[in-house]
Amino acid sequence: MPAADSPVPRFVLINRSQLLLRPVDVERLIDEEHPARSLWDLVGSLDLSPYHDATAAVKGGAGRPAIDPQLLVALWLYAYSKGISSAREISRQSEYEPGFSWLCGLEPVNHHTLSDFRAGHKAALDDLFAQVLGLLSAEGLITLERVTQDGTKIRANAGSNTFRSGETLAAHMKLAQEQVQLMEEQAQEEEQVSARQAAAQKRARQEREQKLRRAQQEVERLQKEKKRDRDEYVARASTTDPEAHLMRPSEGGAVPAYNVQITTDTANGLVVGVAVTTDAIDYRQLEPALDRMFATHGRYPAEVLADGDYTNHASVQAAAARGVDFYGSWKPKWEPGEYDAHGRGPAFQTRAFVYEAERDCYSCPAGQLLKLHAIQKQPNGVRLRIYRAAEAACQVCSHRSSCGPKKAKPGWSRSVSRAEEPAVITAFKEKMATVAAQSTYRVRSQIAEFPHAWIKQRCGLRQFRGRGQWKVACEATWACLSYNLSRWFALRRCTAATV
Ligand code: SF4
Repeated sequence: MPAADSPVPRFVLINRSQLLLRPVDVERLIDEEHPARSLWDLVGSLDLSPYHDATAAVKGGAGRPAIDPQLLVALWLYAYSKGISSAREISRQSEYEPGFSWLCGLEPVNHHTLSDFRAGHKAALDDLFAQVLGLLSAEGLITLERVTQDGTKIRANAGSNTFRSGETLAAHMKLAQEQVQLMEEQAQEEEQVSARQAAAQKRARQEREQKLRRAQQEVERLQKEKKRDRDEYVARASTTDPEAHLMRPSEGGAVPAYNVQITTDTANGLVVGVAVTTDAIDYRQLEPALDRMFATHGRYPAEVLADGDYTNHASVQAAAARGVDFYGSWKPKWEPGEYDAHGRGPAFQTRAFVYEAERDCYSCPAGQLLKLHAIQKQPNGVRLRIYRAAEAACQVCSHRSSCGPKKAKPGWSRSVSRAEEPAVITAFKEKMATVAAQSTYRVRSQIAEFPHAWIKQRCGLRQFRGRGQWKVACEATWACLSYNLSRWFALRRCTAATV
């Protein structure tokens, strides 16, 4: 214990009840090298006329002036560069974060305005994306000599438990319509709701009905599309986001998601094409990706690298038809097992039959000839040559029970088929068997997967905020645009450091 006469320490008092007015020099909120300034200058150099054309407020007209699209574009790009994908968060941070505060001049933009702007101008946003690609191309950062194509699944703004079958949706629709009628009758009787409340309730009911109707349409479409493959298939659609489909993202599980298709130029890892599809698999996505490239850049890339999910007859032929050199990974659909679908052992499977090129026929394990019987042309361009043994030979053959199906019809004789692939497929397979092609293909994963990781980790796009393919496509484009600009600024810093 201190002695009674020992000195008592004195401290500065904290006064939290005072009010202060401080001068703020907005221009000095951020330093000269701050990324918000670079973004502002860059956006200012772009042609924003598509946004201007869509602005309702005009000189001499009634109402408040609109927020400048340059500010809204810069705010969204700055937000994505900081991993912020929420309009509310931008509005909140504009109160104190120096970059946001400087951009909006200490007057935060309402989150509704920000949100509507992000998803409301798809054509103008695509134009903006193309303009930036043009600038990157002019600086020689995009060459289109070699690009990669890959897809990543991003969660939709809907729960897995919102998926309903057509029957359940019809019941929900009926219930919603009954509720609407009941509420309207009550409102008329009670006259308790204000005009504003009534309008809000009406809007909410209309949105609910629209979503249910859209979900019903989606279920009908899916049912028609998939019924051919599986008779027992029961299509389901989400009542929250009818366009989202159940997909399997890399994190695992099956969740409502969209498939974001990204094309990346290997020269500097810049994104040169982006689109969103509701197709859960990448099987059909290479051809549209190449056509998007042509629409945006006016030419096709010289080479495209894509993984086994894209590698199929249609993709190889589509690339060849466009003069694009495709490098992929051809996966066999299935590996032959010990017994085939008819229960035949290895001694009587097709691979046990010997093809004689000179006579264009096969000889079976019993030494009988199988002559060309028919040629079938398949939709993927493959010609299937079918060879058949003489009926008389198979009828008396001692191997008939091992060579034929368990229940052979009267008049059965063995047939085998030989697939004659189009020349481009054969050339592709031969090319991919070479060491040089394999070495080219190996660069694919590191280039293709980097933008995926960036838009999810650095731009905060782990889940979409909007609903519907249109809105999520806008979000994906904003994130990729932000990625390209971040990469561009980084490349400029590297160049400046080496000079
Ligand atoms: S059943 Fe016909 S095809 Fe099969 S081994 Fe006998 S003769 Fe040859």
